Amino acid sequence: MEKSADTMEKIVSLCKRRGFVFQGSEIYGGLKGTWDLGPLGVSLNNNIKREWWKMFVDNREDMYGLDAAILMNAKVWEASGHVAGFFDPLVEDVKTGERFRADHLLKDAGVDADGMSLEEIDAEISKNNLKSPKGNDLSPSRQFNMMFESRIGATAGPEGKVYLRPETAQGIFVNFKNVVDTMSPKIPFGIAQIGKAFRNEIAPREFLFRVREFEQMEIEYFVKESDWEAEYEKLRLDIVKWHEHLGLAAENIREYEVPENDLAHYSKRTIDFEYNYPGKGFDELAGFAYRTDHDLKNHMDASGQSMEYIEPDGSRFLPHVLEPSFGVGRAITAVLCEAYTEDEMNGEVRSFLKLPAHLAPYRVAVSPLLKNKPELVDKARTVFGLLKAEFGNVAYDENGNIGKRYRRQDEIGTPYCIVIDFETLGQEKPELADTVTVRNRDTGEQERVAIADLLAYLK
Ligand code: ATP
Repeated sequence: MEKSADTMEKIVSLCKRRGFVFQGSEIYGGLKGTWDLGPLGVSLNNNIKREWWKMFVDNREDMYGLDAAILMNAKVWEASGHVAGFFDPLVEDVKTGERFRADHLLKDAGVDADGMSLEEIDAEISKNNLKSPKGNDLSPSRQFNMMFESRIGATAGPEGKVYLRPETAQGIFVNFKNVVDTMSPKIPFGIAQIGKAFRNEIAPREFLFRVREFEQMEIEYFVKESDWEAEYEKLRLDIVKWHEHLGLAAENIREYEVPENDLAHYSKRTIDFEYNYPGKGFDELAGFAYRTDHDLKNHMDASGQSMEYIEPDGSRFLPHVLEPSFGVGRAITAVLCEAYTEDEMNGEVRSFLKLPAHLAPYRVAVSPLLKNKPELVDKARTVFGLLKAEFGNVAYDENGNIGKRYRRQDEIGTPYCIVIDFETLGQEKPELADTVTVRNRDTGEQERVAIADLLAYLK
């Protein structure tokens, strides 16, 4: 099936209609750059985070978990370079005051502005005669810091200033020593964290792709400088496996090697893992940077605390860092884009989410054939209880007729639907007593399975 901008619109509408994603503060007209996850969105979100944690932390011996505070001492962000340099170039429509990201306007016009100075950006805007989307002139570009500021307690003056973290990474660096001292990890090792990050994006857009409040799943992997290339390659392959585990087709993933002149000043190598979003094309899904010893060094200098790692033989050194960084919202978007499918079933067009079973909000749905027959309902509730105790995420669905239930479950990506009918009760064919119909979401095919075999079948 060909996927286009139209597909993205259908996904956004499905997400709202079926309880995956709602606009933030919707009843008050919304709040730009925020989205709220509905009941099914929370499940998908949690499933992605759980699978990530399993793959990158629980299934390995060299990773340690962390959950640092969102509010951090402002000195962290001075030392990390975010106060002085976490900027995006901003231009304004001179008539309406609307703000845009200059590099995005240029990108839409086919000019790659990565790494350009403000003067170069202004020169390109003028050379290409770029206007605002309303056709008005644009102001000269200026730097806009993307960190949200707040004040803590009743403290006046600069001491009260705090920032909402724009990345989870710094929470890991400032706890590096704590983890080393308490866990005695052998190098190479990683510290992993999942949590919220906040960026005052100039122009949030494209659904969950660019928002102001989002979740990140990040690892800082500490290595000896001499080992960075070998360890980088190993982690790169782990990231490839992670994207396979999300069910993303290899041809929809591209590894973009960020050219040297576009690298952040502290990075010696960065690969952006890009996904082929329908109607938009390849754009960043996750980043993988070699950050040298930049962060630990800065925190050591600024805090006066040693960040050195001490080997069993007493030798000391500052580890270098590899950073795989994933946005949960972008993973959700890519998973939904990959899973969204339209086909023809029973002469009708149907749309459904071909989600991998380990990500689907519900693993299976259970229904009585008719909801007004207590004997069917009783049996369905028993089967439901059995499956729910095992899998947790099981739906009980008796709304509308069977056809409608199938369509609803297909649309939310439930891999199997189980129906309890009169044959289950042994009323029509005694040999079918205690068997149920299991319908496969992708093929629409139905099989008769004994209740006693259901757990094994679904596993
Ligand atoms: P972009 O170039 O798209 O703005 P970035 O290079 O600034 O992204 P990083 O700082 O590398 O992003 O952040 C790591 C990951 O966090 C990104 O790969 C992405 O998945 C996610 N992310 C960053 N900014 C946002 C945002 N505004 N909304 C949603 N996810 C984001």
